[in-house]
Order: sequence, then C-alpha cells, then structure tokens
Amino acid sequence: MYKPTLDYAQQLDKEDKLAHLRAQFHIPKDKDGNDWLYFTGNSLGLQPKQTQQYIQQELDDWAKYGVEGHFEARNPWMPYHEFLTNSMAKIVGAKPLEVVVMNTLTTNLHLLMVSFYQPTKTKYKIVIESDAFPSDRYAVQSQLKFHGFDTEDGLIEWKPREGEELLRIEDLEKIVDEQGDEIALLLIGGVNYYTGQYLDIKRIAEIGHAKNCMVGIDLAHGAGNISPELHDSGVDFAAWCTYKYLNSGPGSLAGLFVHEKHTHNKDLPRFAGWWNHNKETRFNMRQPFDVMPGAEGWQLSNPPILSMAAIRASLDMFEEVGMEALRAKSEKLTGYFEYLINQIDTASIKIITPSNPKERGCQLSIQVKNADKSLHKKLTENNIITDWREPDVIRCAPVPMYNSFEDVFRMVEKLKELL
Ligand SMILES: *Cc1c(COP(=O)(O)O)cnc(C)c1O
Repeated sequence: MYKPTLDYAQQLDKEDKLAHLRAQFHIPKDKDGNDWLYFTGNSLGLQPKQTQQYIQQELDDWAKYGVEGHFEARNPWMPYHEFLTNSMAKIVGAKPLEVVVMNTLTTNLHLLMVSFYQPTKTKYKIVIESDAFPSDRYAVQSQLKFHGFDTEDGLIEWKPREGEELLRIEDLEKIVDEQGDEIALLLIGGVNYYTGQYLDIKRIAEIGHAKNCMVGIDLAHGAGNISPELHDSGVDFAAWCTYKYLNSGPGSLAGLFVHEKHTHNKDLPRFAGWWNHNKETRFNMRQPFDVMPGAEGWQLSNPPILSMAAIRASLDMFEEVGMEALRAKSEKLTGYFEYLINQIDTASIKIITPSNPKERGCQLSIQVKNADKSLHKKLTENNIITDWREPDVIRCAPVPMYNSFEDVFRMVEKLKELL
C-alpha cells in the first residue's frame, strides 16, 4: 500500500491530522537553516515552544512572591505536582491515585525496590532482560548486594535464544516455572531500549504473580510511545523518565506507578521524608510520620517546580492530542519507515525490531553488519541524527509528535546512498 516516492510521503503528511504539531517544537537546524532529520526522540525529546513560557511564569511568580509563591503563584507550588497527575495517569493507563511525578528514574526504581524487593534467605533472586539498560542492571545488582546477596547468583537474565535478537515470553515462563521459588522480583523494560521490542506486560505480570514474585516495569522507552495500560496489566510498580518521548528536557523528573492494590498498604517498608507524610499535618512539623495513601506516599522531598513546569508544558500537548491519535500515526509512520528500509537492496543492514506493530513502539533498531560504525558517523555528518548503541545497532525513532513522513523518506534516501 505504501509507495517509495517523495510525492507519496508528502501526500501522507498532507493527510496527517497531527502534522501541525511539528511547528510547535524547536527543530534543530544545520548551518544553512535546514531542519535536522531528528530521530533521537527516544533519547532526548525535542523542546515544545511553549515550554519557555511555562517556566518563565514560575520564574516571574518566584520573583514576585518569594516563598509566598507556594500558595500565591498562579499555579501554587505546594500542590504543583498534582497538576501533572491526571495527564500522566492517562498516558500510562493508570488511576490518578497510582501515579506521581518525582525524582529521576533510577532513584525511583530504588525507592520502589525498597518496598517491593523484600528478599528472604531462599526467595531473593531478581530477573532482568539480558539487554537491560545499564542503569537498571546496576540498580538491581546494588540492591542484591545491599541485602547481602551475591550478584552473580542473585541475578537471572532472560536472554534471546542463540542466533535470535528478540525475547520470547515462553522463555520467561520457563525461568519462572523452574526457579520461581527462588525469585523475589521481575524487573523488566516494557519497551527494550536496544531492540525496540514491546513486551506483553500483562502476561509478564501473570507469569510473575503465579509464583508470588513482585513485578516491576521500566517504561523509559514506553511512556508517551505506546499505551501500556498499567492498571489493567496488574504489575505491582513501574517507573519512567520524562525526557525521552515526553519531551520535558534533559535530566527532567520521572514518573512512578504503584498499583492500587498496594496504595493503601501502610505496612510496606519504605523510606520517608516530609513529602510522603500526610498533607493535612505536614506543617505541624512535630507529628510522628503518617504516610499518605497512593503513589504520593513514595515522595520524599518538595519537588523542583521549574522542571515540573517543563513537564506540564509537554503533558498539556499530550492531553490535547491523546495517546490514541498519536499511536495511530506512530504505527503508520514507523510502518512507512520499515517499508522504505526493506526496499533497499543490501545485506549490510537488518531491522531487528519486531515487524508486528503490536510488539513495538516507534523505534526501529537497525543492525549493521560487522558492527561498522562508519555508517552512523556518515548519517550524522549529513545532519541525520540517530544513535549508535554497542555492539552493532543504529536506533532510529520517528516520533509522531514532530517527525514527518517526509523526514522518514529523506532519511532512507540518504541511507540508501551511503550504503
Ligand atoms: C533512559 C533510561 C534510564 C536512565 O535513567 P536516569 O535515572 O533517568 O538517568 C534508565 N533505564 C532505562 C531503561 C532507560 O531507558
């Protein structure tokens, strides 16, 4: 149904109901003023033009009110994080009670493991994907060590089969079937950062829960990309950053999800600070700690408003567009990208991301034969921004918020030329 011509790509852009969104972002440009072909929204999303105004408003209110801004600012800072909750909950398919924006991703994973990784002498192992993001791997290794376990013995890797790149759910099932009595936690990337594979989160939760293992999902590459329906999936917890598909700026804050079944459990072990203490009595100061219900009960500190203002600017765009429309465009855009790459007659590259749109988000991971890094370098020299991930993959993410069908067409034309 697709056609490999510029005319056709431009026609798709004309028919695209979300095409107007591109103009609401700052698109980096080359020295001649042409837009870069930016395919790294999976690493750092582009800046919405309205972000500056959202941050400026908080700077102005800080100038005007000082500490009184906590109550007097146009968006009072005291409850500011609550302004983000509803839109964020929609993006990940959760109830507002289950979601909060706070800290950064790896920090949230640790705070969640304080509560949901409760090893005993015999049930203490953690399962991750063999291609887990390094920070997640280091985080679980350090949790094992912290609890006095050996990281070799305590870490179980869910690996692709010999000669394959993608994970098979049956293999996770087998691991948990055979070793479930020793496993305390599954911590899995919902969308794998390397291959772009979108795993069946609900099935992972069922597999883990059948053997009384806790199940946590890292959605760094899922939030704003796919619709994970976290509540219905039944996973115990999840966390994600907001600077990738959620366009909220470098190092911005992260999201945290705790399933409703745990949100009122005051007996869960957890770390405390004044921000997870009961809002009503927080400023009485001398009260004994009384934890808040909901995901807010994992907060520790009063949050950075300037960073939250940037998140709010982005979430307001998601709220307006809706994940459904974004996802529909995304499937078409990535489908077109895949079609064009598959038209290239070459044995030097291969897409390793699943071809089923239900098993991927927008990213395609292109494996380069003999791990030849020069192809990525040449793309960059031509203002086509992708990223190289060791050992041999170029990751490209056409993002439905701001990438066009023409972007994808031009990228693949250049790729063909370089090959
Ligand atoms: C991007 C990413 C991180 C980064 O963690 P920070 O704490 O935000 O630095 C961690 N895990 C995964 C899976 C990621 O994709």
